[in-house]
Amino acid sequence: METTADIFPVLAKVMSILLLGGAALLTAALFLVRKLTRELPKGANRNWWYVLAGLLLLFLSGYVGFLCLKAGNIYTHSEMLVVVIFLLGAVFCLMVCLLAYRTTLELKRIFVLEHEAMTDPLMEIYNRRVLDRRLHDEVMRARRHHLDLGLLMIDLDRFKSVNDTYGHHAGDIVLQHVARLLVESLRQTDVVARYGGEEIVILLPHTPPVETCEVAERLRRTIAETPVTITDHRGCKTDLTVTVSIGCAGISPEDDTAESLLQRADQGMYQAKQQGRNKVVRFDAQQEAAEA
Ligand code: GH3
Ligand code: MG
Ligand code: MG
Repeated sequence: METTADIFPVLAKVMSILLLGGAALLTAALFLVRKLTRELPKGANRNWWYVLAGLLLLFLSGYVGFLCLKAGNIYTHSEMLVVVIFLLGAVFCLMVCLLAYRTTLELKRIFVLEHEAMTDPLMEIYNRRVLDRRLHDEVMRARRHHLDLGLLMIDLDRFKSVNDTYGHHAGDIVLQHVARLLVESLRQTDVVARYGGEEIVILLPHTPPVETCEVAERLRRTIAETPVTITDHRGCKTDLTVTVSIGCAGISPEDDTAESLLQRADQGMYQAKQQGRNKVVRFDAQQEAAEA
């Protein structure tokens, strides 16, 4: 028959197992924190996770210390309670770290999907969907608050001949080069979007008409002065200079829709082509009225 005295060594064993289990859970939590910090960019947030990892290590040494302290000894009731609380604490830590890690991965996935839904895969600028929405919003805002809004319509000059002479891959490199130059030359608040094949639209919020044309001229010059190295079908490298024609328009009180602003910039771009390309042409509401 089992006596109370026989139970104590068994209980001590169970307590050791629970403590070891808790330590294993904390180790797993530490492992997760390490994986999570790899997903995070450098900064205060990541540093706080390192602090948390330090605390987990401290807890872990507490578990192991308690286990060594009690090795072979009898556990009192309150010490058994401590062991159970230690175990629950470890479960809690592991769950928090696991959820934080999974949430981080999920947020990253959402960010990637959102980025893909908004971005043109070739030029790495906004796509037409974003342009339509932003154009509509910006026109509404400008009209409501009587703010300036500039719009540029950009088309590459004789781009078909780049494709025909050097191949479509070279053409793609040129498109990426132009898009990069535009983004690098503009403010973060400006919207650069692919309108169609090799046409790009730029929205310049809070920009008066004169400044809009100055920006367009600066962009035209930058593109004309910055050659791009391409490789043709035969593998030969060539420095190619491309030019663009730009139509610019600014919002006016008569403008009722985003379409009319876009149309004027398009007409400006068309005139720039007619005037020999590599030009900036401003097309305003008065001209539109005169031509109607
Ligand atoms: P223009 O000066 O009158 O604009 O002459 P252009 O040759 O540029 O004429 P157009 O604007 O009509 O030509 C558009 C060309 O752009 C035709 C098409 O093959 C090319 N294109 C459109 N999208 C892409 C693309 O994603 N990649 C490449 N490589 N070419 C493209
Ligand atoms: Mg063109
Ligand atoms: Mg075109």
